[in-house]
Amino acid sequence: MSRDLSMQTSEVLRDALDQLSDAAEVLGLSEGMAAGLAHPRREVTVSVPLRRDDGSVEVLTGHRVQHNLTRGPAKGGVRFSADVTLEEVRALAMWMTWKCALVDVPYGGGKGGVRLDPKLYSRAELERVTRRYTSEIAPLLGPERDIPAPDLGTDEQVMAWMMDTYSTGVGHTALGVVTGKPLALGGSLGRATATSRGVTHVALAALASRGVQVRGSRSAVQGFGKVGRYTARFLAEAGSRVVAVSDQYGAVVDWNGLDVPGLEAHVDATGSVVGYGRSEPLDRADDLLVLPVDLLVPAAVEAVITEDNADRVLARVVVEGANGPTTREADRILADRDVLVVPDILANAGGVVVSYFEWVQANQAFWWTETEVEDRLAARMTVAWERTAALAQSRDLSLRGAATALAVGAVAEAHQLRGLYP
Ligand code: GLU
Repeated sequence: MSRDLSMQTSEVLRDALDQLSDAAEVLGLSEGMAAGLAHPRREVTVSVPLRRDDGSVEVLTGHRVQHNLTRGPAKGGVRFSADVTLEEVRALAMWMTWKCALVDVPYGGGKGGVRLDPKLYSRAELERVTRRYTSEIAPLLGPERDIPAPDLGTDEQVMAWMMDTYSTGVGHTALGVVTGKPLALGGSLGRATATSRGVTHVALAALASRGVQVRGSRSAVQGFGKVGRYTARFLAEAGSRVVAVSDQYGAVVDWNGLDVPGLEAHVDATGSVVGYGRSEPLDRADDLLVLPVDLLVPAAVEAVITEDNADRVLARVVVEGANGPTTREADRILADRDVLVVPDILANAGGVVVSYFEWVQANQAFWWTETEVEDRLAARMTVAWERTAALAQSRDLSLRGAATALAVGAVAEAHQLRGLYP
């Protein structure tokens, strides 16, 4: 997945701001309110000096953006990626605000990132990066202030280090300061698979809305990380033929439907989907996006469906497992071609929903069963899907337009009720 980063990260932010403008127009918001929502509440950029294993010192850059705090503490992931820029983090933080409002969890939105390619660093180096970054942004953090979670390039071990670093600083164990933690450390059952569960719930609803039977349908999943992997598994379990998957190294296809458990075992053994025996490689991994399938789930990075390939997308339904995978221009092209796009803030909201459940459990020190987590997640995803689909229908909006309007409306109402200080 090659991207022209400097261009695309600012495009991602521009797209996010344009989506907000559309919602402000649908809702008839005042200019002042719209401007307030366009601006991040707080942004911090920090240096993260790292002692490498060979003794040399390298200085990395990290960010934490709190886009909005009106409905509750900032909430959102931390990514470790060579592509991280402040503009990208700003856009992602804004989408977190809308996501949390859409699924009615009592948070604002935030996002963080450190600009590094985690594959190039040892585990010990990543621990030092995590601890220094956490301690630099610690004044912003806290169970009632800002609650990070995993995102691209970070995992539950990184969350455990963040929790430990923060807890050491405040002098007591603060389980509620991050989510996506290991189960042994105040994590929640069902968190690791939550985003994919949510993606699958809305994918099945979206296919049904287009009259496509799941059994026998064909699907393709871009990305085989925290989101793509379990999405492929759950789609296959629901009866869809998952014909293609990809990761950052390449893509594999089997038109009879990939054996997802076999593929998962191959990935566990080799670190990539590439070379999976019971499949054919795709020459260009990005061609996965234009295969003749019913359902396409981009579950990797931003800006992969663009004006360059949107007119060749053959899927009838696109469900955004990733944040921001479809550019604004591509959105228009897909809408003209009657491709149904389930937007990120709805499609991948299952992750933050179960993060919320994890935080509630950690704050109460009382843990739920997996069934309780899964049922409550399913209920929230269904309500969010139904509200979004109903508004799209009644106001003749895209699902993205409707989801953003619902979310922005909820945040604007909260702003209005709190009033402007001073
Ligand atoms: N990083 C995930 C997202 O983009 C999860 C965020 C969270 O759980 O706070 O939605």
